[in-house]
Amino acid sequence: MSNPTPPDFLRNVFAGAEQQGDDDKGYQESNLADAIRFKMKRDNKRFWAGDNISEYVHFTDFDHLVDEATVAFEKVLDALLIDRETDPNSKGTARRLAKMYFNEIMAGRYEPAPDATAFPNDSEDRYEGMLVVRSELRSMCSHHHQPVSGVAYIGIIAANKLIGLSKYTRIAQWCARRGTLQEELCNDIAREIMKATDSDNVAVYIQAIHGCCENRGIMAHSSLTQTTVLKGSFKDDPHTKKEFFDNIKLQQEFAPR
Ligand SMILES: [Zn+2]
Repeated sequence: MSNPTPPDFLRNVFAGAEQQGDDDKGYQESNLADAIRFKMKRDNKRFWAGDNISEYVHFTDFDHLVDEATVAFEKVLDALLIDRETDPNSKGTARRLAKMYFNEIMAGRYEPAPDATAFPNDSEDRYEGMLVVRSELRSMCSHHHQPVSGVAYIGIIAANKLIGLSKYTRIAQWCARRGTLQEELCNDIAREIMKATDSDNVAVYIQAIHGCCENRGIMAHSSLTQTTVLKGSFKDDPHTKKEFFDNIKLQQEFAPR
């Protein structure tokens, strides 16, 4: 039995298949998203809404994935009995949704980690103090796909390397632009900052408002959710922890929100 040649748009999915054994051979999936999902399942790769799957999605796959998602969103609009043929505002909605998911609100799932070049901090007069960076966050709850907006305060005791100040926010936003739970997001940001800086002493405090509490359900318009993750000395040393929260207060006085 001969193996069919996969369609051209599946080339990235099949790249390297020869080295990986016979699993992919003969796989006749005609849908790119299905083929990528098949590969992730085979590799036991988790692909929850908050997971980064950039190793499996090549940037040249994007246009094709947007096309497939457009067709799927058209089906959703049809099921909702929205006239996408004559309603001028609904005509291009399926494609707008598909592009928005891939390029904006879920971009952190498909893009690789931001490049955070590290600078040495190991000279005699190295900086040994605390650094607190406030990062604006936009995210989306994975339960209802409602917007989440807020700020993360990232605290760190400088280790032997430092990253550029904007990188803290880039990393935080890369973690946020997915389907998230705030508790998980707080953990994810702490873990990625520890990875990028080699510091064991990291804290992340997030305060955010959730569309799923404001726009539906309890319709709570002044609700605010706070989460804190403390690692190393932020957890073990009460003075460090206090300095972190004092700094957050100073930041909020400096620029209230
Ligand atoms: Zn929700």
